[in-house]
Amino acid sequence: MPGAMSSVAETLSRKPCSHCGGSEFYVKEARFAGHAKQLLPLDSWFGYAEGWSRICGGCGLVQWFVTQECVETLKKEAVREL
Ligand SMILES: [Zn+2]
Repeated sequence: MPGAMSSVAETLSRKPCSHCGGSEFYVKEARFAGHAKQLLPLDSWFGYAEGWSRICGGCGLVQWFVTQECVETLKKEAVREL
């Protein structure tokens, strides 16, 4: 996970904050459990979903990301917005 997260963080770091346009971000691994997990349509997932948070150092905007594995599960279980 740390290796995967760092490669994703490198990709994300090229994109400025969608709110303030800032370029200073902090990335941290995260586990979505309890109420946070209920936001994700992942009933068949394990006790938690893994991902990471990306927080803007300028305005504090928080972005949440799940792993690609989690995204693949979503594609099978969730409804795609058209
Ligand atoms: Zn920002």
